[in-house]
Amino acid sequence: MTRKIDVEALCADKGLRITEQRKVIAKVLGESEDHPDVEALHRRASRVDPNISIATVYRTLRLFEEAGILERHEFGDGRSRYEAASDAHHDHLIDVETGDVIEFVDEELEELQRRIAEKLGFRLVDHRMELYGVRTKQD
Ligand SMILES: [Zn+2]
Repeated sequence: MTRKIDVEALCADKGLRITEQRKVIAKVLGESEDHPDVEALHRRASRVDPNISIATVYRTLRLFEEAGILERHEFGDGRSRYEAASDAHHDHLIDVETGDVIEFVDEELEELQRRIAEKLGFRLVDHRMELYGVRTKQD
């Protein structure tokens, strides 16, 4: 999903103090249209500010995660991947051969999950759905 989320504005909303380096990391994260891991985010942030250390990226990501500004995923390879939290919900399909992550939304699936929760006596407030597959045709 194309985003460009204003992570800096989100930080302000959550009352997070925004330093120059956090600002760079927020911008890089907000402009990422994939699901970068910490190394990729560090590489991208370094292009803007070569003084940003990977430790700072780690710390900032943890801070953002605690504030609910980003979502952390683990897509089966043990590495954490990040994306800016958005209001628009989506799920993920992971290509197990290439590691590509495809985003999708399926209303039937959303409805089914709501019904399952309801049947079990719950009102659904969140869910995560990860599908793992091998590509059989090009789209
Ligand atoms: Zn996503």
